[in-house]
Order: sequence, then C-alpha cells, then structure tokens
Amino acid sequence: MRWNWIIVGAGSAGSVLAARLSERADSSVVLLEGGPDYSSVSALPPEIRSGLGPAFSHDWGYGSEAGRLGRSVPLPRARLVGGCSATNAALALKARPADFAHWVSSERARWSFEEVQREYRELEADADFDDDWHGRSGPVPIRRFALEEFLPEHRAFYDAAVRRGFAAVADHNDPHAAGVGALPLNVVDGVRQSAALTHLAPARQRSNLTIRPDTLVDRILFAGRRAVAVALAGSAETVEGDAVILAAGAYASPAILMRSGVGPADHLRSLGVGVVEDLPGVGGDLADHPLLGLRYDGPAPADGLPGAQIVLTAASSEAEEELDLQVFPWTPYADAVSPSGGVFTVFVALMRPLSRGRVSLRSPEPEDAPLIDLGYFTDSADMPRMMHGTRLAHTLAGTAPLSSFTSRKLSAAAQPSLTDDELERAILAEVATYHHPVGTCRMGIPGDPGAVVDATGAVLGLEGLFVVDASIMPSVPSVNTNLTTLMLAQRCGRWLAERDRG
Ligand SMILES: Cc1cc2nc3c(=O)[nH]c(=O)nc-3n(C[C@H](O)[C@H](O)[C@H](O)COP(=O)(O)OP(=O)(O)OC[C@H]3O[C@@H](n4cnc5c(N)ncnc54)[C@H](O)[C@@H]3O)c2cc1C
Repeated sequence: MRWNWIIVGAGSAGSVLAARLSERADSSVVLLEGGPDYSSVSALPPEIRSGLGPAFSHDWGYGSEAGRLGRSVPLPRARLVGGCSATNAALALKARPADFAHWVSSERARWSFEEVQREYRELEADADFDDDWHGRSGPVPIRRFALEEFLPEHRAFYDAAVRRGFAAVADHNDPHAAGVGALPLNVVDGVRQSAALTHLAPARQRSNLTIRPDTLVDRILFAGRRAVAVALAGSAETVEGDAVILAAGAYASPAILMRSGVGPADHLRSLGVGVVEDLPGVGGDLADHPLLGLRYDGPAPADGLPGAQIVLTAASSEAEEELDLQVFPWTPYADAVSPSGGVFTVFVALMRPLSRGRVSLRSPEPEDAPLIDLGYFTDSADMPRMMHGTRLAHTLAGTAPLSSFTSRKLSAAAQPSLTDDELERAILAEVATYHHPVGTCRMGIPGDPGAVVDATGAVLGLEGLFVVDASIMPSVPSVNTNLTTLMLAQRCGRWLAERDRG
C-alpha cells in the first residue's frame, strides 16, 4: 500500500491534519501514533475524559538536562491519540497581534494577525461572545465560568487583583485584553475537548483514513532528496507514501528528523547517522514558558472541582508593551506536604522568555528520549521578569480577601520577605515547565541559518517532507500553545490540500 499522506503523531496538529487531508475521498491518509487510541468518549480513561485538570498517565517520560537549574525538570508529553490536547489543562487562549510580529519576516502575509484571526474564528465555537473576534460554529467549543460560579479561592484572587488596580477582563480572547478575568476553556460538561474529539472523531469512519495506534516511528527514508517512507521501530516494516508530515511535537519531531539524517551535520556524524541534509536549526531555538508554583497550606481539597478558572495577564516592568506574565490560582489539591491535606497554589508564568534551549539526540535509537536542554534563564533578561511576576503574586497573596488563603506558606518562593538573591535561588530551585515547548523545527526564509521549514511547513532543501506542529512556531506566543497549534495545523492543512489538488 502506498499512501498519499503519512502523518506521524496523532496529537493536536496531527488530528487536525488527518481530518483535513482525508476530506478528499481520493486522498489516502495514514496516521501513525506511538500511543493507544480510545475511539469514543465512553472508552476514555477517567483522567483523559475529565477536563478538570491535566492528566499525566500516558507519558513519554522525558526530562530536561540539568542546565542552569542544576536539576532535571520532568517534561510530560502525552502518548496517545489526541496527544497533549488529550491531557492538557484545556486553557483555550488565542495568541495576540504582537506574537505574530516575529513570524517569518518576508512572508509575514501568510501569518499576519488578520489572517490568523480569521483562522482562529473558523476553529472555535465560543459560547459566550458573538462579535468580530469570535467564531460561533467551529469544531472547538469554548466556555468561561461566570463570576458567580468562581470557587472561593478564585473569587478571592479576582477581588484582590481588582483591589490592586488591575482591570476586570470579560474576555481574555479579545486581542487587547489585559487584566484579570475568567479563562476561556475547551471543556464541555466536564469533558476535555481534545483534538481527538473535535477533529478526528468526525473523520474516523472515512474509508480513506487509517489510524495506526501503538506504532512507534523510527525515521524517514529517502530516495535521493525525496521522503518516500517511514521506518517503524522494532520491526522491519516500512510505510510508504507520496509525502511525510511530522506532527510528533516539539521534542519528538526534531528527534525523528535527526534520526533520519536531517539536522546539524556534526551532531549527526558524532552519532554515526548519515547526513541527508545539514540543517543546523533542527532542535535549536527551543522556547518554553517557565512556571513557578507558590504553594500554600490550603483548605482540604474537594473532588470534582475545576483546577483553573481565572487568570491575570500583566506586563513586567522590563516588558516593552508586551504582556509577559500570567498569574493564576489553582484549586486546592490533595498533597501529603500539606498539614491540612490540601495545597493551594498561585502560579506565575513567564510568557515571553528570551532564553533558548536545544533538543539533540542521546542516541539514534527510537526508544531513547532525546536530550532536552531547556535553556531556562540563560538570557539575563528573563530572571528579573520572573522575579517581577513572583513579587506581583506575593502582593496579591498578601491582599484581602486572598490573604485568608495564603497565610501558611509551603514553598520557599512563596515567602514574600526574600531578598533578591534568595528569591532568585528559590526560583531556580522550584521552577517547572508550563508545558509549551516550540521552535525546534522553526519556520523561516531560505538563507536564515536557523530555519528548518518554510512558512508552509515544507522542510527546506528536501521534497515530500513537512513538519506541522508546535515545533515550527518561530517564537513562543505569550499565551498557552494548544489553540495556536490547532490554528497552525488547520492553516497548513489547507495549503497541503491545495498542493495535493495542484
Ligand atoms: C500537561 C500539559 C498541560 C498543558 N496545558 C495546556 C493548556 O491548558 N492550554 C494550552 O493551550 N496548551 C496546553 N498545553 C500545551 C499544548 O497541549 C501543546 O502545545 C499542544 O498539544 C502541542 O501539540 P503538537 O501537535 O505539537 O504535539 P502533541 O499534541 O504532543 O502531539 C504529538 C503526538 O505525536 C506522537 N508521537 C511522538 N513521537 C512519536 C513517534 N516516534 N512515533 C509515533 N508517534 C509519535 C505523540 O504520542 C503525540 O500523540 C499543555 C501541555 C501539557 C503536556
């Protein structure tokens, strides 16, 4: 069997692409996924069905190299059909105009805010707003909690932020919004609306689409400069096709490219991998949002409550007209470190980090996790901004009525009395990932030494090979990345379908 399209990875992007490219009945599509496939809502394990908070049960087991933090940070990545859209926290935020200013300079028209705004509108069915900024009939349902539905800790956070002078925001998906208000969430009746449900479910029955779960892709095979097949791990089987689209995510897509001989030539040679194309940018420019949780001994947790309801967006004093901070509370969860049994957390995230990391290969073996250097705080501009966000969270935590939930501090970074040196040390010791890696196969124009794909996702210098997932974003948006990944896949999927017709 020779397929028209081989898609590697059935995550956020892969699900959108498979649905789009199989719309044409005479186009055959195979979707290869390393994890299991739960093909209906009723078949989903409870934690995958629940949209109350993230799930960590289906995981690739990645961790970072020690780097400046001096320790490995766990980097959960979902391994199942739906990918991270099936395990994430379901915060559904659209990127802002300034985020796209950095996308592919000479081809900006393809990713202008006007164009992507249209694409987001097609993607969403926003139940709360009906205006120029919002779509009402797309596949991804979006809802917000009303003020009167906020749980006590969230309401207290909201009141404290308003008391401190932050604007009350009705809609964080208004591109000009800044302040505190309800989070848009892609959760309906408690069920997380993953791309497996919003995009793949309606396409599953098509006879020209085959989903192959529990199938680990090793590498791409080439005839000359053209990708013609992928080799599967643990067997001699190859899957042949006219085009290969990598949608394996920001850690796995560059790893597959490198195993296939596409990447920095010196690195590949050092591992004994034959070089097909010397692309130094593969694995480079890794950008991710650092996340710090200030933890308090909170009220006892109750089952069945949503973790996230609201967020404050703000600019650090170092930001130049950009909203580079998110601060948000998380409903108390059970944890043995809390004397009362429940931990209440106020999270701080740096949303416009300048630091960059890198993904490289530990070995050419497909079962081996890649080496991931997050690069957190290697740019000297990032620590002062993270400290600003943490001090802002301290201020809110000390403001009534939120202060009634934060009197007993459990983590070092939650102590408001720290000197700058102490706070920096606490941040380095406690910071984690917000799970938004991008940039490891970033798009750019020919001649850009760090570019891996062009503005449509085509790998530079090769034929029949594309990357379409979060890895091709040239910089990390100042919001959570799922909706932008879906938007990007929808847009690239349209161009790929047109190419097919041509
Ligand atoms: C815990 C967590 C919480 C998050 N919360 C949010 C949130 O609330 N809001 C938000 O906007 N974003 C959130 N994100 C981020 C968001 O979900 C991701 O940016 C997005 O899903 C990335 O999509 P992707 O298609 O690039 O990759 P993925 O969705 O990760 O898809 C990659 C797929 O490829 C498969 N794969 C990888 N390697 C291979 C291989 N060798 N062979 C076969 N298959 C392979 C994987 O199993 C996976 O299914 C969160 C992420 C995590 C992990």
